Amino acid sequence: MTGTITPDVTGGRDQDFLAPAARLRGAGTGGLEELTDLERSERLVRMREGSLGSIHSWELVTAVDGPGTRMTVFLNGCPLRCLYCHNPDTFLMKDGEPVSAEELLRRMKRYRGVFRASGGGITLSGGEVLMQPAFAARLLRGAKEMGIHTCIDTSGFLGASCTDEMLDDIDLVLLDVKSGNETTYKQVTGRDLAPTIAFGDRLAAKGIEIWARFVLVPGLTDDPENVEQVARIIERWRSSVTRVEVLPFHQMGTDKWDSLGLDYQLRETRPPEPELVESTRAIFRAHGFTVH
Ligand code: SF4
Repeated sequence: MTGTITPDVTGGRDQDFLAPAARLRGAGTGGLEELTDLERSERLVRMREGSLGSIHSWELVTAVDGPGTRMTVFLNGCPLRCLYCHNPDTFLMKDGEPVSAEELLRRMKRYRGVFRASGGGITLSGGEVLMQPAFAARLLRGAKEMGIHTCIDTSGFLGASCTDEMLDDIDLVLLDVKSGNETTYKQVTGRDLAPTIAFGDRLAAKGIEIWARFVLVPGLTDDPENVEQVARIIERWRSSVTRVEVLPFHQMGTDKWDSLGLDYQLRETRPPEPELVESTRAIFRAHGFTVH
């Protein structure tokens, strides 16, 4: 959710980044049943049990959000406030569209052939997918029952909300490590780093595949010592991490921040120079990781 990154450069897209060139179809919430007429109380009950969720949009993408062609669903609600967030309109759950799990699963079913042919699947992103754990759990279980590869894209901050049963239904986690030290992490996100590390540890203990991701922002996250600390955190999960993605910051969400009346602090920040991107990737490579 942040910039115009070409997927051949990054090999993927953070929940914070867009790769428009890779988008086959952007459908917003079009075609999905909207349940805006439900009584508020009934809606809350359904959200709690997970049959109804609040989503921003969904889209079909290739070469981002995991392997192959994927149906990525962006869920609303996020406890973090990353300074570089490209989708501040997903911050609040109440701003999303209510959509039933059943309807989304029906749509996933239609793309089964595409997923199979491309080695793709579904990715639950956001916002923060673990803000709606019961809804996410239904989608993941339903997808697995259809034999679809599943992925979640998360900061890990709410990892404690992810049950072991949910983990059993997840094939891949795109785990954002937004900084290697507490101070910068808090500066970037407004929250603590420890829950991300704890979640990564759990994933590694369960042998769940991880693509670790790091957003490189000049003047914010680019200190080599910070990057080194990120690499050391990811090293804890070595047996599970099959790639590390360094995602260069790009301006993109400015208009959204402005239209929401929010204070966008990175207005003057430029994308990193190619040399900085390369030297940052080299730090991860030196730790033995496959880096994109
Ligand atoms: S974690 Fe939340 S605030 Fe941070 S970039 Fe992603 S959606 Fe935006």
